[in-house]
Amino acid sequence: MRIKWIGLSVWLLWATTNAHGQTGSLEYVANMGVRLELRGHSFLLDALHDFYKEAYRFTSAETVEGWFTNDNFSVALISHAHGDHYDERLSMEFLRNFQEGHLCGPSQLYDSLYLKGQVLSLKRRVHLISKASQPTTVWQQEGVRITGIRIPHVNRRHRRIQNIAWLVDGGSQRVLHLGDCSADKTAFKNVARMLGSGPSPYIVAPYWLGLSTEGREAMAQLLPPDQGSRKWVFSHLPPQGYLQYVNSLQENFPDATFFTVPGQKIVFQ
Ligand SMILES: [Zn+2]
Ligand SMILES: [Zn+2]
Repeated sequence: MRIKWIGLSVWLLWATTNAHGQTGSLEYVANMGVRLELRGHSFLLDALHDFYKEAYRFTSAETVEGWFTNDNFSVALISHAHGDHYDERLSMEFLRNFQEGHLCGPSQLYDSLYLKGQVLSLKRRVHLISKASQPTTVWQQEGVRITGIRIPHVNRRHRRIQNIAWLVDGGSQRVLHLGDCSADKTAFKNVARMLGSGPSPYIVAPYWLGLSTEGREAMAQLLPPDQGSRKWVFSHLPPQGYLQYVNSLQENFPDATFFTVPGQKIVFQ
């Protein structure tokens, strides 16, 4: 009897692991754009954008076409309404293409989506959040929960821009995306609260955060330096001249990942 139970438990563990695809991956798309595979779901974070300025890498038309033709995404997350993170046309195409796909972003997207009357019929699948410091859960399915919280955009002239930090929580694997955040201590404290005591997430951060003392102090609130730097993923690096930033970041974050070439991938164990 006992052997049977052990056998059943092993099978259940195997079945659960396989059914939910416990292993997953985080793949670089462009600028701060990433594609995340978790528990059998595909997610896009800040990846729906087109050419904006020379200084930023953008998602190629072929990549977008490949997604829309061959893939099935559950959710597209947008940190804020700047052209190097978000494109209105591609976001609408995403919603039309994936009939069960959801789009989540800051309430400022209301201006570009709702006011043009484009999204009213798709409202059930659009989640725009506005609360300042409270984490808001926007999507939950089969062991994955997505929560967002406001974190100020870097640079005072952009202080009106609503920037959201998104946590995609798959239980044993978690990914936090910070968008164009500034090193705001209070906001980081709130993000740390949103993370709670679960396993350390991979954190997709803009490269500038790790370059200043202030930024590194804010980062330490999310992942203490004594836990190593393996879970930091630096992005938003300029397509030209990024090596100087990578070199100086490596002094403090020797084991971090630097997303510089589209297609780079972290495979979760
Ligand atoms: Zn921005
Ligand atoms: Zn940006």
